[in-house]
Amino acid sequence: MLNPILTLKRILQESAKVERQDHMVDGVVRQISSAMKVDVCSLYLTENDEMVLSATVGLAHSAINKIRMHAGQGLVGTIYQSQHLLNLENGALHPNYLYFKETGEEQYQGFLGVPLIFQGYTIGVLVVQVYATRRFSEEEEAFLVTLAAHLAGNLGHSGRSSRLRKAASESGEAHITGIKGASGIAIAPVMLLVDEKQLEDINDRDYLGKAEETSRLFDAIQATLEDFESQSDSGLGHASDTLNALLEVYSLLLKSPELTQAFHDGLNSELNAAMALKQAFETQVAYFSAMEDPYLRARSEDFRALAAKVYRHVANDHVHHTVVDTPVILAGKHITVSHLARFDAKFLAGIISSEGSALSHTSVLASALGIPAVMGVEASQLKYLHQQTVVLDGNQAQIVVNPPEPVLSAYQRLLEQAKSLDMDLSVLKQMPSETLDGVRIALHSNTGLLADIKPGLERGSEGIGLYRSEIPFMMNSHFPTEEEQVKQYREILQSYAPLPVTMRTLDVGGDKPLPYFPIQEANPFLGWRGIRFTLDYTNILLEQIRAMILSSANTNNLKIMMPMFSREDELVRFTKVVDQAMAQLLGEGYVVERPKIGVMIEVPSSIWLIKRIVHDIDFISIGSNDLTQYLLAVDRNNSRVADMFDYFHPSVLLAHKMVIKEANRLKLEVSVCGEMAGDPLAVVLLIGMGLKQLSMSAFKLPRIKAVIRHLNTLECRVLLDQVMELSDEKETRDILRRHLIQCGAERFL
Ligand code: PEP
Ligand code: MG
Repeated sequence: MLNPILTLKRILQESAKVERQDHMVDGVVRQISSAMKVDVCSLYLTENDEMVLSATVGLAHSAINKIRMHAGQGLVGTIYQSQHLLNLENGALHPNYLYFKETGEEQYQGFLGVPLIFQGYTIGVLVVQVYATRRFSEEEEAFLVTLAAHLAGNLGHSGRSSRLRKAASESGEAHITGIKGASGIAIAPVMLLVDEKQLEDINDRDYLGKAEETSRLFDAIQATLEDFESQSDSGLGHASDTLNALLEVYSLLLKSPELTQAFHDGLNSELNAAMALKQAFETQVAYFSAMEDPYLRARSEDFRALAAKVYRHVANDHVHHTVVDTPVILAGKHITVSHLARFDAKFLAGIISSEGSALSHTSVLASALGIPAVMGVEASQLKYLHQQTVVLDGNQAQIVVNPPEPVLSAYQRLLEQAKSLDMDLSVLKQMPSETLDGVRIALHSNTGLLADIKPGLERGSEGIGLYRSEIPFMMNSHFPTEEEQVKQYREILQSYAPLPVTMRTLDVGGDKPLPYFPIQEANPFLGWRGIRFTLDYTNILLEQIRAMILSSANTNNLKIMMPMFSREDELVRFTKVVDQAMAQLLGEGYVVERPKIGVMIEVPSSIWLIKRIVHDIDFISIGSNDLTQYLLAVDRNNSRVADMFDYFHPSVLLAHKMVIKEANRLKLEVSVCGEMAGDPLAVVLLIGMGLKQLSMSAFKLPRIKAVIRHLNTLECRVLLDQVMELSDEKETRDILRRHLIQCGAERFL
């Protein structure tokens, strides 16, 4: 038998290339039968609860699409029902054997059939048969089982995309369901972000002669330099100063004598333009990657990025231009926070991403900017969306492609209603956020971009409960200087003064990498993230804290919060850095006040540390997103397990209840700044737990205030006791929804 891994890889690669599913399955059965040297290989696929013969080598072709078996019927139906393989010396002797004359299968005795399982369901059965009376070997069995597992994945996904194509071609309308990212509705054309070819992917073989290749390469370099010039002239992007600095560095690198010599060396040894480019850049990347100093090591990323830019011109590969001036829905395999930051928010009508879930930072930021988002969309479906006008329904996690007139006008009506609800809610701005029994609940907003300062103020936010300082860091091309930070922070602190602004120190790592400081880790969410990173680079932390304190010199409304707190010594070291910053600034003659200090409760261990640190802090804020992720061991960014990510899980609710109770007992200020705070259903429970302060996306604030004004704290406590007895999150949601409907708050759900 052939090497199973290699055979598998070849079969799967071939099958992935084929667009039409019927062609793909024909190819697969042919290749399996030749690799395993069997007389028959057949694939049965599920259709309306029946197994249908869909492809075969060895059985009569005329039987394709005619042989059908339902659960428990025949050997295939038995495998379908039991989800278990059958390996039989002589299939005909099995009690469930069913003979179909039209297949001509009576001559085959040895039988091996394995189920194809996709997301828990049997989507097909793969069968091999031989003339001989023999059981298949363990090796053959293992091979077929492994192949079936991969094939099920391929078929499961491609099956969905072929259905999409079919629906789109017949009526023009097609629906795609993803995972909820951020709520809201958008109607706009889709702009697909195509991944740029990376350095290691360059593999062009054509050779047009030395003279031709030399001019191809140097023309491409010239064109890249011209791109840089025009980009810096037009001052694109939010941070044009830093962008210009980066473009200048790129230009200098590209013109450096070392690189020019390396290009000529490659061309002289008869490499084509692309490969000469690759070789020259790979040498530089290898050189910088081996550096001890992390800053210099990170420079290798500049070379990679630069190589990709030149290659686009060598290959004449003019991918999308990311400048937009009309509203678009941005789509891509992995839309990140940095992608969002690159666009002007007013032209971002919506987000569609394959990776991510409701709690990934992309969704969180989209929500903070009031941009609807659908995540977890099959990557193979994205290409059908490019330049199509679609309806993106972030509330239902649906995308409607080519919506017919009635659907479009229904959605347009919904958009109008949402706008008019917002207008109605605007009258609430001046009204207090308090329950029917007079309990005040402070509502703060979450920010990270300068663009989201205004929405909070316009909606009556009582302060910033969470400023995600890593977002401006991620938009930069280097660690921002103290001065650059002061400029940013001052604008926020001054806009909100005298209201409090809680600035969280850098929370990079996890799914928030810095483009200029890549970190490679097997488990990034459990690794060098948040305070763990900045306590290893106290210079960065000190500079940031200095910048924060300095920015608050005239307003004195700053609170500083530490992310990812998990150990007491982190707080001790963090406080020392704050002390150091204060001492330095006072020594330098600045008149500054010591800010209040707090920690995020988002790593489970921190829950039990609250009473030990209570005298060293002024407040805590619960990061319900990470607390849920770490309590349930569910990656907040992984769409495969997105439906397990649920803050209504009884353990997560209990954790919140414990923290709030403990803080109230210790008279310690406590708030929730994760997404839970902006969910009307969760708010009922948080108030029941005794919480008096919430921080959320500014766009959610008016609805939450409206809901609060319909609640009674006593009823919230009763509901909390009731749901704490439940184990099913859906039941919890139903009870809470019913309650809000009864209270007359239905339209705010
Ligand atoms: C959280 O974890 O709940 C939180 C508010 O922080 P972030 O989403 O930025 O990790
Ligand atoms: Mg967090």
